[in-house]
Amino acid sequence: MDKVINYMEIWVKECMEKLLLKNNMCKCDKCKKDIFALALNNLKPYYVSTNKGEVMAKINGMYQQFETDIVIEVSKAIEIVKKYPKHLEERF
Ligand SMILES: [Zn+2]
Repeated sequence: MDKVINYMEIWVKECMEKLLLKNNMCKCDKCKKDIFALALNNLKPYYVSTNKGEVMAKINGMYQQFETDIVIEVSKAIEIVKKYPKHLEERF
């Protein structure tokens, strides 16, 4: 069986990397994962059951439809993690 992927994860990751470039904050793995998880919890998943090129191109075109929501949720998640980074807790 082909993998089922949540395309929202790919969009959120791309959006996060872009926004983090403009943001002066911690970019460690823990903080990135926290932003990723927070944003994804507030967005609807977008599952696709194939990764054939043709379908991928169509899905990439769908991004525009979700872009506003994704940017809003990723920005919110960045602000939360920036204020309350959890990376320190794990060292103790
Ligand atoms: Zn960090």
